[in-house]
Amino acid sequence: MKGTRLLALSIFSAAFLSFTPVNKKLIIIDAGHGGNDMGANKNGIYEKNIVLNIGKEIQKFNNTQDKYEVILTRDNDTYSQLTDRTTLINKLNPEMVISLHVNSNPKAEATEEGQEIYTQNTEDSKKLADKISKKFNVQKIEEKNLHILRESKAPTVLVELGFINNTKDREYMTSEKGQKEIAQKFVEVFNEY
Ligand SMILES: [Zn+2]
Repeated sequence: MKGTRLLALSIFSAAFLSFTPVNKKLIIIDAGHGGNDMGANKNGIYEKNIVLNIGKEIQKFNNTQDKYEVILTRDNDTYSQLTDRTTLINKLNPEMVISLHVNSNPKAEATEEGQEIYTQNTEDSKKLADKISKKFNVQKIEEKNLHILRESKAPTVLVELGFINNTKDREYMTSEKGQKEIAQKFVEVFNEY
């Protein structure tokens, strides 16, 4: 009796698994920093936590769509070496990579606000930056020689989501509403890609 039930269960599981889509194209979201690497900070608020929360929101919101699967380079507060991140990226061969960061400058209160995007030296990376810039208040798009941009073979951009030392940006990036809106905009970009 017990054996039959177990067999039925395993047949059911196998049938169920065979219907799980495995051919979805991948997008990698890289939440910068993590663990002892806090990134930018202001008033006890850390870049590493903002980008992780927004990365998870992107993954959650994207789960309601069926075009892409979103993979995170880290899904908790641990540091992942830059070389480990790009090794993972090049192994998974995603359609695109978005590395999330938060800006800061030495001012007590930044007069600068909004997003900045850094690109690879490729048309695809610049096209992706252009698509993102249409959704956000992007102040600057610039080619830059950063590890993740240089080593990732997929179209990759690094997005500075706002200034941690600009009160308006910081409150928006740490609010539930702001994080959900930012996530939704990225998923719109994916669906238009
Ligand atoms: Zn950063």
